[in-house]
Amino acid sequence: MNQKIITRFPPSPTGNFHVGSARTALFNFLFARKNNGKFILRIEDTDKTRSKKEFEDNIFESLEWLGLKYDEFYRQSDRGKIHRTYIEKMLDDGSIYEAEDKIIRFKNPNKKVKFNDLVRGEIEFDTTELKDFIIAKSVDEPLYHLAVVIDDFESNITHVIRGEDHISNTPRQILIQETISAPRPIYAHLPLILAPDRSKLSKRKHGESVSLDYYRNKGYSPEAMINYLALLGWNPGTEQEIFTLPELINVFDFSRVHKGGAIFDEKKLAWMNRKHFNLGKTRDK
Ligand code: GLU
Repeated sequence: MNQKIITRFPPSPTGNFHVGSARTALFNFLFARKNNGKFILRIEDTDKTRSKKEFEDNIFESLEWLGLKYDEFYRQSDRGKIHRTYIEKMLDDGSIYEAEDKIIRFKNPNKKVKFNDLVRGEIEFDTTELKDFIIAKSVDEPLYHLAVVIDDFESNITHVIRGEDHISNTPRQILIQETISAPRPIYAHLPLILAPDRSKLSKRKHGESVSLDYYRNKGYSPEAMINYLALLGWNPGTEQEIFTLPELINVFDFSRVHKGGAIFDEKKLAWMNRKHFNLGKTRDK
């Protein structure tokens, strides 16, 4: 591909930065850097009641602590005018319409959508069951699917790398892309991160131990955290387990991202932390 590779990390500032978000940010960063591409941070703050400044600050601090530098940054809420232009155009051409209750719905063409995922291979959905789904609350209030598709298109995103929980969102987003003639990005859905008992790592069940700050406050180093996150769902295909960020940029590749859930094991992280600590000592001599 001679097109410049552009990835994005679009967290919503609605809670403390999750270790799963850190892993998603890392994989987007590695893939962009490896290909001399661009890595964009987009704060998805259109949900005004749930988005909070303190959580946005926590995103910036977390990325900085991890050493994941982005090339561009914007807030979704600053792009209302652009979103509105698309909504008006789509209302005009009939691809979306205002329903009786004033919400805006997408006119579903009811067809099969097939896409090729870099991790999971070919995935096919029949979109009929999605009906005419809601796309905006008003011309000034696009919902997630529409805002994501417009912003990804406007930013020329080539690869959408995100958690597996977003697979079911993909067919809706592809239908929207097709109506606004946006090229389809390449998708890569990363395996879920699981607790040692194989349940999904969630704040409700696992409390603060899902947040990056929890590990940061316990004294784990960013180098160990990055190394550990890289191995959550990916392996280098060799016996090597200890990597620095520049080494990861070199070796990272989607062909060795697995489909199965990745278990978050703090003991392994602690072991890596000691290894990186010792590496640091030899370097400082
Ligand atoms: N804001 C969404 C999230 O935090 C982004 C999902 C996506 O990558 O499209 O889950």
